[in-house]
Amino acid sequence: MPLTVSQMIAKHHPIRLVSSTHAEHDSHCGVCGGTIATGSACDDMVLTKSFTNQNDLADLASPYRCVGCASIMADNRFQMQLSSVVITPKAIYPFAKKIDRGFFLINPPEPPFAMVVGVSKQQHVVWRSPLNLNSRRFQIQLGDDRVAIRHSHLMEAVSAAKSIQACDISAAITAITGRKTKIKENTSPFTFSDMKSARSRQNEWAWWALLLRKEGKHDAEFKALDELTSDEAWALDFCLADDIKKPEPISL
Ligand SMILES: [Zn+2]
Repeated sequence: MPLTVSQMIAKHHPIRLVSSTHAEHDSHCGVCGGTIATGSACDDMVLTKSFTNQNDLADLASPYRCVGCASIMADNRFQMQLSSVVITPKAIYPFAKKIDRGFFLINPPEPPFAMVVGVSKQQHVVWRSPLNLNSRRFQIQLGDDRVAIRHSHLMEAVSAAKSIQACDISAAITAITGRKTKIKENTSPFTFSDMKSARSRQNEWAWWALLLRKEGKHDAEFKALDELTSDEAWALDFCLADDIKKPEPISL
């Protein structure tokens, strides 16, 4: 079984494969670290002048890069329209919209799988992504960062947030403040300072959540929400999206 995202894509998906040589000895990919056996197709470890992700390479001294990394680096789609995706051996799914993220965070695929989010233009994210071998605790490549999710904690937080929502927050806040207040439905109890959800470590309690806590309301639910890491609080927002359903795979 391939143990890197690049090698999984090259093995299972119809992309144009790039290779220029065959390995003279057992080696590993200088980019993703995946194994390269003697005699197998691979590419010389040559990077373009504009390449700036040297610190993300598995081994700059390796003479080879694998067919997967050579192909993904040559295929600009993986830095553009295919930079926010969920990758499994069977399919590649969109992971850019809130509802798509919500679906896969609630229903992570059978391992192995990768979850990748490109947050700026022309960003190398796919070959840098970890391959998840466990759906109870998995990671997402979020631009230059890695987000770690404990699925059971996230699901408990989804239930807690929905249970708070079910109690008509607008009415509760209006009663506390004495001013008519409307809180948007299915809104996260955390706020984020960046609109595009490009960073995970920006969450703070929403003002209405602080007010409810101060009044001692929904203690049990807030205890479940206190268990979240900031990465999981970031992920919760997607899980609260309306009309979550499984997206169609992307045809390459
Ligand atoms: Zn590789």
